[in-house]
Amino acid sequence: MLNETTKQDKNLFLETFGCQMNVNDSEKIAGILKGLGYRTIENPEEADLVILNTCSVRARAERKVYGHLGRYKALKKRNGRLIIGVGGCVAQQEGERLLQNAPFVDIVFGTHNLHLLPEMVRAAESGEKRTEVSFIDNEQRLDLFPPAGETAGVTAFVTIMQGCDNFCSYCIVPYVRGREISRRPEEILEEIRRLSDQGVREITLLGQNVNSYGLKIAGYPNFPELIQKIADVSGIERVRFTTSHPKDLSSELVECFAQLPKLCSHMHLPAQSGSDAVLAAMRRGYTRDEYLVKVDALKKARPDIQITGDIIVGFPGESEDDFEQTLSLMQEVGYADLFSFIYSKRPETKAAEFQDSMTYEEKHARLARLHALQSDMALERNESFVGTLQGVLVEGRSRRGDQWYGRTSGNRIVTFAGEGSLVGEIVDVRIIRAHQTLLLGELNQG
Ligand code: SF4
Repeated sequence: MLNETTKQDKNLFLETFGCQMNVNDSEKIAGILKGLGYRTIENPEEADLVILNTCSVRARAERKVYGHLGRYKALKKRNGRLIIGVGGCVAQQEGERLLQNAPFVDIVFGTHNLHLLPEMVRAAESGEKRTEVSFIDNEQRLDLFPPAGETAGVTAFVTIMQGCDNFCSYCIVPYVRGREISRRPEEILEEIRRLSDQGVREITLLGQNVNSYGLKIAGYPNFPELIQKIADVSGIERVRFTTSHPKDLSSELVECFAQLPKLCSHMHLPAQSGSDAVLAAMRRGYTRDEYLVKVDALKKARPDIQITGDIIVGFPGESEDDFEQTLSLMQEVGYADLFSFIYSKRPETKAAEFQDSMTYEEKHARLARLHALQSDMALERNESFVGTLQGVLVEGRSRRGDQWYGRTSGNRIVTFAGEGSLVGEIVDVRIIRAHQTLLLGELNQG
């Protein structure tokens, strides 16, 4: 029987901005607060607790957060008992300032303080306001990675590290996520065994720079060794990871693609630019040629590998020639997908001091050229799969209710006619048609 503290009789509305790390943190927040009797709901009007999990990687993030908080302020006017919490990178960055600027907020917690949420929420239930935005050091890292809650899906994300030591000149992550901390390997494996028991077949390992996992702590496995241990967990059929820093991509990791069939044929390897001058100003720690040599090694180790990446357009000082080098890099790599952004100045970063003379319209025009090229390349790449047989891990029913969907090892989404009993299975699907972001197939019966 449920006792008073575990009864699910309070409503939590959770809004998440930004990256997969944040989505993963939100799942953890929901899991932690379930222990306090909060169940997640879809309608903020019915909430007893609203949490905004924020991201500050892009510009105007703070303004966006205050804009959303305005809506919750109106809800609080109607329901004086509503608790409002703000977490994530903007909370880390703003701290006490958030409570001063938005006094109707009750709790502010940073990226390293999820484990303090139960006591903060309990205090807020008794009318106390609190802010916790301290970073945790290596000695305390046990608290930093609360395990994920229960999952009903066949795929799951597992955080293996937090923070970053790279200080790329444009990036706010080291300031809001803190310095790099690797999670204990035994905790990671325990979580993955538990997920496997719940029916998870595919694990995506998450971290700002997974390639440097374990390198700074004596006795920890390095990243390729960790992948090997995870691939050995019974029931786990596929392992993915994101994100990789090109400078830390080791030949040992490349070798994993040749040796470990459970490691998926996909690598997200953000180049950010194809110009050496821009890469140096970004403080990325590699040249265009060094990046391309690594891409080449990956393609040799796993010929069907799908490479995806990130590009920043309009970095301060980027000339037309620099930009054209980025376009030519895209063609040389042949990205399956590309996440591209216009450069935005972030406070505290080195690049915020750089002279930026390009107008927004000029940057926008470059981004449009890049999108046009990438759209053509992505469609061409997807069309190259037509007629091939792909192993697809079936994840569930597609939005078109009569179809099922899953992903190939190379992370291409495929829809096909099937049945519910296939969920969790890797089935052979023949690709019959290609769109830019989707493949259509039919189950191979033979
Ligand atoms: S590697 Fe660079 S871009 Fe990536 S999180 Fe670290 S500082 Fe930011």
